[in-house]
Amino acid sequence: MENIKNKNAWLKYTDEDLKEVEDFAGKYEDFISNSKTERECTTFLIAEAKDKGYEDLNDILKEDRKIKAGDKLYVNNMGKAFAMFVIGDSSLTDGMNILGSHIDCPRSDLKQNPLYEDGNFALFKTHYYGGIKKYQWVTTPLALHGVVVLKNGEKINVVIGEDESDPVFCFTDLPIHLSATQMGKKANEIVEGEDLNLLIGNIPCETEKYKYSVKDRVLNILKEKIGMEEEDFVSSEFEAVPAGRARDLGMDKSMIMGYGHDDRVCAYAGFSAIIHAENLKKTAVNLIVDKEEIGSVGATSMNSLFFENAVAEIINNMEEYNDLKLRRALANSKMISADVTAAFDPTFANVFEKNNSAYFGRGIAISKYTGARGKRGANDANPEFIAEIRRMMDDNGVTYQTAELGKVDQGGGGTISYILAAYNVHVLDAGVAVLSMHSPCEIISKADLFETYRAFKVFFKEA
Ligand code: MN
Ligand code: MN
Repeated sequence: MENIKNKNAWLKYTDEDLKEVEDFAGKYEDFISNSKTERECTTFLIAEAKDKGYEDLNDILKEDRKIKAGDKLYVNNMGKAFAMFVIGDSSLTDGMNILGSHIDCPRSDLKQNPLYEDGNFALFKTHYYGGIKKYQWVTTPLALHGVVVLKNGEKINVVIGEDESDPVFCFTDLPIHLSATQMGKKANEIVEGEDLNLLIGNIPCETEKYKYSVKDRVLNILKEKIGMEEEDFVSSEFEAVPAGRARDLGMDKSMIMGYGHDDRVCAYAGFSAIIHAENLKKTAVNLIVDKEEIGSVGATSMNSLFFENAVAEIINNMEEYNDLKLRRALANSKMISADVTAAFDPTFANVFEKNNSAYFGRGIAISKYTGARGKRGANDANPEFIAEIRRMMDDNGVTYQTAELGKVDQGGGGTISYILAAYNVHVLDAGVAVLSMHSPCEIISKADLFETYRAFKVFFKEA
C-alpha cells in the first residue's frame, strides 16, 4: 500500500484491502456485540488466545517449565483484566514493547440492594459507572450482564436481553407533556443519578405477607431462572448495558455504531496485532485492563501491581532474578497507551480546534498529550519517541493523524499512559477516534480501526 500521510485511508485501499478492512470490522462487530463487560471480554479473548497457542503463566510456573524466546503467555487478573506476552530473542531487561488498553466501559451497575417495588412496578436501583450524560441512557433498551457468586462459592454468569426472545430493560423518562419543570433544568440535572431506576416487572403475585407483590414475583423468577435469592445481590456484579448488536452505519457502511468502542476498539486491535506477532527481537506485551473509566483504581486496574508481578515471575523463570533486572525491564520498555480520542463532529464544530482534531478515515490518532486545561494529567510524550513511531508508520504505509481532544479550555480526558510512564518508560497515546463517546451508541470508522490494528502490528515488530 502506498503511504499517504495525513490523508484519507479510504483513498489508498485496493479492492483487496477493502475486503480485509470489511472482514476485520465484521469480526470486531461480533466481538463488541457479544462481549459487553470486562469479564466477558477477558473470557472471550483468553479463550481465543489459548486457541492460538498462548499458555497460562501460572501453569508454566506450577509445572516448573522454562520460558524461552517465541513462547506465548497470558496472565489472567481476576477474570477482568489480563496481560499477553510474546517472548522475544533479547533479554527482558532490554525492555519490552507494551501496548495497553482498557475493556471497562461506561454503564450503570446494580446497587448491592437493588430490588424494590413502587407504583405497581418492580425496579432495580443503579449506580452509574464512569462519565455519562445520564439523559442519554433513558428510554433505550438495556440488557443485564453480570455474575452472582453464591455463599458456597458457586459462580453464575447471567446475560438477559441479548437474545431475540429475551426481554430487555430500561430507564424511563417523563413524557414531554409533563416536562415543564424538567425542560428548564440544566442538562446534568434533567436525569439524576437516583432517577436511573431499571424497570423490570409489573405482574403481582399473591403472597402471605402483603396481599400482592410485584417484587416477590420477580424474586420467584430470579430464583427459578438464575438460582439466586435477594440477599445474593450482595455478592453480585450486574451491569445494565445497551442491548443488541453493533451495526454498520452509513449508506457506504463505512462506520460502526455500537456500545463500548471506548476502549474495546483499541483492545481488539491490540489483541489482534499481538496474535500475529512472531519472531520478535523484543518481548511484546498486550495489556488489557479494567477500571480506567473510574480513575484506574483497584486490583484489576493499570495501577495494580499485577503486570509488574508477572514480569518479575517471567524474569525469575528465565534467568537469575534480582530487583534491578525488573526495574531495567520496565525502564527500557516502550509503550503505546491505546485509547480512543474524540473525533471531529461538524454538528458541534465549535468545541474542536480544526487543525488539531482527529477526523474519521484519517487513520490512527496519535496524541502527544491528553489531559485537560493546561495538560493536567497528561503524559506528554517525548518528540524523540514520537519521531520513532512516525518513522515506523511511514515505512509501513500506516495512515495516522495527530489529535488533541477538543479545544484547550473545553475539557479533555485522561488515559492509562501516566501510570506506566512512572516506571520511566517512553509512552505515547494513540488510538481510534470516536463520535458520541460515552453514549450508548458510540461511532467509529472502519478504516481507522484497520489502520490502528496495522499500526499496533508494526509497533510490536519494529519498536
Ligand atoms: Mn478510554
Ligand atoms: Mn472513556
